[in-house]
Amino acid sequence: MTSQQRNLFDTEPAEWEFDAREQRLVATVILEQGPDAAYDYLVPDRFCDPDRTDRLLQPGRRVRVPFGRSNRKVVAYCVQLEIRSVDPGRLKEVAEVIDATSLLSPAMLRLTRWMADYYLCPWGQVLEAVVPAGVRKRAGTREVQMLRVPEDVLGEIAKVKLPPKQRHVLELLAAHGKPMTQAQLAEIAGCTSGPIRQLLKKGLIESERLRVGSRLAETEVTPREARLELNDDQLQALRTIDTALESGQPHGIVVHGVTGSGKTEVYLQAIERVVGYGRQAIVLVPEISLTPQTVRRFRSRFDSVAVLHSHQTQVERHEQWQRIASGAVQVIVGARSAVFAPTPYLGLIVIDEEHESTFKQDTAPRYHARDVAWQRALAEKIPLVVGSATPSLEAWHRSEQGDWQRATMPRRIMNRPLPDVAIVDLRDPVQSRGSRGGISRVLQQAITAALSDHGQVILLLNRRGFSTHIQCPACGFVLECPNCELSLTFHRQQQRAICHYCDYFQSPPPDCPDCKSQAIRYGGLGTQKLEDEIRARFPKHLCARMDTDSMRVRGSHEELLDRFGRGEIDILLGTQMIAKGLDFPNVTLVGVVNADTALHLPDFRAGERTFQLVAQVAGRTGRGVKGGRVLVQTFSPEHFALQAAVRHDFLRFAKQEFALRKQLQYPPFGALVRLVVRGPSEEVTRSVADDLARRLKQSGGDEPTLRVMGAAPASISKLRNNYRFQIHLLAAEIDCLRRIVDLATTGFKPPREIVWTVDVDPTDMM
Ligand code: ADP
Ligand code: ZN
Ligand code: ZN
Repeated sequence: MTSQQRNLFDTEPAEWEFDAREQRLVATVILEQGPDAAYDYLVPDRFCDPDRTDRLLQPGRRVRVPFGRSNRKVVAYCVQLEIRSVDPGRLKEVAEVIDATSLLSPAMLRLTRWMADYYLCPWGQVLEAVVPAGVRKRAGTREVQMLRVPEDVLGEIAKVKLPPKQRHVLELLAAHGKPMTQAQLAEIAGCTSGPIRQLLKKGLIESERLRVGSRLAETEVTPREARLELNDDQLQALRTIDTALESGQPHGIVVHGVTGSGKTEVYLQAIERVVGYGRQAIVLVPEISLTPQTVRRFRSRFDSVAVLHSHQTQVERHEQWQRIASGAVQVIVGARSAVFAPTPYLGLIVIDEEHESTFKQDTAPRYHARDVAWQRALAEKIPLVVGSATPSLEAWHRSEQGDWQRATMPRRIMNRPLPDVAIVDLRDPVQSRGSRGGISRVLQQAITAALSDHGQVILLLNRRGFSTHIQCPACGFVLECPNCELSLTFHRQQQRAICHYCDYFQSPPPDCPDCKSQAIRYGGLGTQKLEDEIRARFPKHLCARMDTDSMRVRGSHEELLDRFGRGEIDILLGTQMIAKGLDFPNVTLVGVVNADTALHLPDFRAGERTFQLVAQVAGRTGRGVKGGRVLVQTFSPEHFALQAAVRHDFLRFAKQEFALRKQLQYPPFGALVRLVVRGPSEEVTRSVADDLARRLKQSGGDEPTLRVMGAAPASISKLRNNYRFQIHLLAAEIDCLRRIVDLATTGFKPPREIVWTVDVDPTDMM
């Protein structure tokens, strides 16, 4: 918060100033772009007329205001209106009201203010992120001139003297009761524009500009489905949510239910109650789970479901937003940003697969949808339900502390067993023997058995491309991206070596650029190479690959899943894209080709991520009557995260991981803020980062729990030609860290080419 904002409400007049002051309506505005501060403007009377709602100034609408010495007109959000005693000569006037309705309710304004404070992000930037671009631009609407009869003329029509044509037009418009365009009026009156122009000239008709939509929202009919009879665990979970709904107080509820335990059915029935009270519900799901399958489940229960996702056009976004704001939508299903849906009367927020990292935004404002949803729940006094088979340790910690409640669903529907999970120790020659590629002998046998039993197989490998590095065995040279200094991945189809971070590519060298050795090797296993291996090993079966390379075309993801669901594909292999939320009863084997890819990342959540990955992917099998099994290939079979995942034992994992985190004061036991400084010169960037670290240490002063780590090169130390340095701040309380960062960065002015970012509660540590 800047000092100007802090002083926003300190407007006690000094006594000697009193004479110049008047009671005036003052708008406080936040600039869309520019200085992070609040500015006051006088509101002229023409923006206070309650009969002209289209230009009535209210908080949450945008305005144009003269700014700076040149008085150039800039766009700003009105965040407050107040009658205050001010010196009118010292304030400028609002020039224009842009929006005909409020874009943000008072509650949403407060939420954005909280985000700005919490995530150390300019308020204007938060507002821009919360209101979709399509809404700001009013995409899909246009401005038209609408005609109507002024109030004072209405009663006088019989008395005015008019030629018959004009009288006919005037009476028609008056009888219509609503404004219409000139073309409409001319058509129903059967006249030219002449009489209308005459009436306008005489002031008997007035013209105003109005915004109209250019399209109607589509209506899709989905066949109805009856609700299911809940089992005891589901009933228990529903009762917990019900009690929270009835209390009229905010409640956080963690629904910890194993994969296939019927969590979605519980959400659906809880939402039925909410809709029954005439309220709306927001359901957040990871973008990748926002499939037609998912949406259909909601559409089959509720009359009015809106879907929000990032592939929508601005027009679609705008239409959905208007429908939601009008209160016509019962359920909003969407990705992260749907947490900002402008529901007038919100009753419940559900976050499914709450542990997913996609709920954290990776550009400013770097918010986490779970934490924003909780703030919204607190403000609107409603329950927040977060569900997962592998809750994030942040959510779990809150339930351990008793701040949030917990509902447990430890069994699958119909008491179907959880799949057997076994580890394949890649260090053991007996287990791995007979494999030169990525598939061990044990896994090979299991695939053969599953296929001969007419089951389907999912193979997970979290690295796309063909080979993950190109290396010379003679001199050790590794082919790297010149912009990022990360090893290039060979993509065979395109015959290119590609950087996965910046998309730089080159053709692969035929011999070593350093020592000219011909022995240069394409090492490391990517999904493309695995695909070749599978096709070679199982030539009679159909195999398909799913990763961001094969799924570039929109809709191809769903199409492939549909084909897999219909049994047209026997083996589906891919990156973590395939690990999420799929429900295919015929999958009897899941193979994790290399569980170590996530385990050894320099990230304190590496264990948690590995546990989640194995547990989630294991959830993809055994959903049908045939049961299922999971094989996890690893070089670290004794790692506790894997050991716990094998036993489907989240509690055991959480307990051990908590002990570690507590000892190191990592979240959720301590608070963490990450700063990244990047720039084109290594030297300058390093010295700026060092300077920032010094400032942070100074600002921290006597804070006993504060630890400042760095500045140090980031794990990805160079990206797109920029060197990157990171600083981590740890302390017991997040408030203290935010204060320190605020203090240390006030007046911190690095050279122009240096960019620095702050990430509060970071999830990306690379
Ligand atoms: P989760 O979200 O926990 O993974 P789902 O809600 O998707 O689980 O449920 C898994 C499957 O079980 C779905 O096909 C669903 O229709 C079915 N199901 C859920 N609840 C019941 C129930 N009470 N009786 C019968 N089938 C159920
Ligand atoms: Zn070489
Ligand atoms: Zn690169």
